[in-house]
Amino acid sequence: MKTIYLDNNATSAVAPEVIEAMMPLLRDQWGNPSSMHAFGGQVKKPIDLARQQVAALINADPSEIVFTSCGTESDNMAIRGAAEAAGARYNVVTTRVEHPAVLGPCRYLGERGHRLHEIAVDSAGQLDLVRLGEALRDGPSVTSVMWANNETGVIFPIPEITAMVKASGGVMHTDAVQVMGKMPIDVRKVPVDLLSISGHKLHAPKGIGVLYVRKGTRLQPFMLGGHQEESRRAGTENVPYIVGLGKAAELAAKSLDKEVAEVAVLRDRLEAGLLATCPDARVNGDRLHRLPNTLNISFEYIEGESILYMMSDVGIAASSGSACTSGSLEPSHVLRAMGVPFTAVHGSVRFSLSRYTTAEEIDYTLRQLPPIISRLRAISPFVKKT
Ligand code: PLP
Repeated sequence: MKTIYLDNNATSAVAPEVIEAMMPLLRDQWGNPSSMHAFGGQVKKPIDLARQQVAALINADPSEIVFTSCGTESDNMAIRGAAEAAGARYNVVTTRVEHPAVLGPCRYLGERGHRLHEIAVDSAGQLDLVRLGEALRDGPSVTSVMWANNETGVIFPIPEITAMVKASGGVMHTDAVQVMGKMPIDVRKVPVDLLSISGHKLHAPKGIGVLYVRKGTRLQPFMLGGHQEESRRAGTENVPYIVGLGKAAELAAKSLDKEVAEVAVLRDRLEAGLLATCPDARVNGDRLHRLPNTLNISFEYIEGESILYMMSDVGIAASSGSACTSGSLEPSHVLRAMGVPFTAVHGSVRFSLSRYTTAEEIDYTLRQLPPIISRLRAISPFVKKT
């Protein structure tokens, strides 16, 4: 059975063009770029090209691109690196709905004497900017606010938030892992200091990421022990994956507008179809300010996990909450922060589409899901039987 993959916010298929770009680096040009000989030195060029390709996607200078091992590393490097470079006790400002890759380092700093502010969101998942302003008045800060939420797709007003942080003299980091390839990002127009990218959400492989570091930003290196990446991130470069991410960035930049519009049409068709055919369904998150590929929907009175298992039996892959926290069966911290009722949090399913999603796949999902929901409702202990 072919899998209908609607879980692209968890990870995405590696693009065939990316695999093709990586193969020569795995098969033939496997030298170490730090070597003095020509065999090693020849892989410097592909790395330089990849740096330019990633920089072009966000309108940065190539020298501002630091390759890391993943989005989680980029987030840790940014938050801990900026706080450590500041030296003194700092304000660490973030939101209640961040990915654990941001909440982890922020809480780590909070436990070590920095003042931690976790800003609340409203029922649409939007940030309380008044509370953010109050936290910023508490002293110089390292602020980390995600550009878009991985569970709901809700987009935060990063241009406005960046202006607030910069006006207060703080350092601004954004976790942009979920927005790459889904909306245009321009770091010359939105002057964030630090921005995290993850390859595997962008049709590159898992195990490669980027931290954008604006020129002049003070950052204590996180990985020590080598001169790579201008001594900002030690460790022999993961050349094939760097090249793959460069290619993925080039593909994303080329087809951004067209793909985003097409994906949004399919997502809207899925959303409208499910709301029309499944009673007691509700969309979670601000529908006006949302990633074009994401739909987070709750089917009340049933368990999201049961829906996932039954969808999986008919070849559909989706997710309940964040892939990184599922497995624990803990209700989503994002939906809880939005005040979504208990019965709806537990019945939440996240569908996330990609450039490879087809109309046929959406129509198949729309045929399969309503009977699954009715069957689960019929055996749910939370539904009143008449
Ligand atoms: N930030 C966000 C918003 C994410 O969705 C994820 C992964 O799900 C990460 C960070 C972590 O990225 P990585 O899996 O590359 O470590």
